[in-house]
Amino acid sequence: MPDLAYNALTLDRATAHRADPAWLATQRSRPDARVIAFHDGEIHDAPVTPDTEAVFLGLDGDTPVFAADIPEPHGPTRDLRAIFSTLDPAEAATLAYARGLLHWTRNQQFCGTCGGATQPTDGGHVRQCQKCGKLLFPRIEPAIIVLVTWQDTCLLARHRNARSYSTLAGFVEIGENLETAVHREVHEEAGVRLASVHYQASQAWPFPSGLMIGYRAEAASPDIQVDGSELDEARWFTPAEVRAMGEHRTDSIEHHLITDWLARTPPRNGTPR
Ligand SMILES: [Zn+2]
Repeated sequence: MPDLAYNALTLDRATAHRADPAWLATQRSRPDARVIAFHDGEIHDAPVTPDTEAVFLGLDGDTPVFAADIPEPHGPTRDLRAIFSTLDPAEAATLAYARGLLHWTRNQQFCGTCGGATQPTDGGHVRQCQKCGKLLFPRIEPAIIVLVTWQDTCLLARHRNARSYSTLAGFVEIGENLETAVHREVHEEAGVRLASVHYQASQAWPFPSGLMIGYRAEAASPDIQVDGSELDEARWFTPAEVRAMGEHRTDSIEHHLITDWLARTPPRNGTPR
């Protein structure tokens, strides 16, 4: 499977240094320090004032890289997923990382236990409640995504009110492992029982806080029973039908799961692809 978008981070996170406030202050005050500005999850090409709270992303070679949320934008903002194909892979990964860490920061201003205000430590990778002392760590939400196959067809579904077909996916629940989540999601949504499940790849997905874990699975039978609440329709598609649908968003692991399956699936009855 090719390198997935947003996985190619080359920054040195400098975890041993970022816990040192004096080291961080020195990095922030360097004239060559880069501070990437965002506004509400979108990239914003604006200068950041030195007093703006920034999270430390890491070192790009010797250059410190930070990210900061701008409360009021002073010009246009850009959506990362919309421009990702124009970006160098390492830069796309840096911006995704920044976006995810800033999202977490915006949403962890108060302690979930006592309601006290929190303050950043470790360059913004930990926040501490100023009232009860509780430490808050960045929250990553794992989700499985799976391409289910039956013989030389694959299962795609149309989610409620969606126009296009997609693979099945869902968040991992408390108390289950990844493979159990795959079996559960596929059965809940499409009523399909799986004979086998194979891990393929994972992808950083800070939109806003995900980690996608991609699987291929073989169905035990072609029987489908759509749940009717999440899905409007699910059915088996031949490679030719999948190709005819064209490509959607090429930065997603879904795109790679489907592309990989198409490359491996022989044409039906020897007909040309
Ligand atoms: Zn607290």
